[in-house]
Amino acid sequence: MLSCKNITELASTRLDGRILWYRKMELTVHLMMCKRCRCYVKQLNFLQKAFKLANEKAAGVFLSEDARRRIKQKLNEVTK
Ligand SMILES: [Zn+2]
Repeated sequence: MLSCKNITELASTRLDGRILWYRKMELTVHLMMCKRCRCYVKQLNFLQKAFKLANEKAAGVFLSEDARRRIKQKLNEVTK
């Protein structure tokens, strides 16, 4: 059985990409038995969603589609 340290590394790897099917099984079995790792993975998933949402909102606030269009229009006017 994998240790809790192995599980935290595996959970992080899973966020970055795909993991092998037997590793996924080991992760699932460990999470069923270990409350601390379940909590860790839950927090990891929450942080990933929060960062993704923050990035999407920041992109919308600082450079909306309308803002990009206006900037492009002004640049075209200046360079003519
Ligand atoms: Zn554990």
